[in-house]
Amino acid sequence: MLKYVNHDIVFQEFPDEVTLAVNLSQCPNACPGCHSMYLWGDEGERLSLSRLRAMAEAYAGEITCVALMGGDNDPESVLLILSELRRAMPGIRTGWYSGHASLPRCFDDYPAPDYVKIGPWREECGPLSSPSTNQRMYRCLPDGSRLDITERFWKKGLKSTL
Ligand code: SF4
Repeated sequence: MLKYVNHDIVFQEFPDEVTLAVNLSQCPNACPGCHSMYLWGDEGERLSLSRLRAMAEAYAGEITCVALMGGDNDPESVLLILSELRRAMPGIRTGWYSGHASLPRCFDDYPAPDYVKIGPWREECGPLSSPSTNQRMYRCLPDGSRLDITERFWKKGLKSTL
């Protein structure tokens, strides 16, 4: 089950997108130096498709993308709710920030979100905007392939907060 604590409109987490970013709790990753420890606990409200859609529709005309930030406690639910949202709102792109080092085994069992970022926070490597980062941002293409677009964060100086 997914639970969310809060949401925000962000401009730098996904290239060229204005994104409704929903912060999920129950993070199991325990990255040393985590700047979002408030997301570790069993906090917030259950995130259903209708709740996510209501949030997205409240920003209709302002956002181009809806993203779930976290959700590694239940990746199947992340992929399911994002695919359902995209079916319900075809003009909106979707994204996922995972703190795992690799994609979950179930990733290919669901329609891929438009963007997926993987990799835990490692202070010595830096965020997505650092060329030494351990994190990767992929653009998922219609043919099922994934394009590594991490370099775009270096060129434009975009920053990630996870
Ligand atoms: S994935 Fe993000 S929220 Fe979770 S422990 Fe790592 S830095 Fe913190």
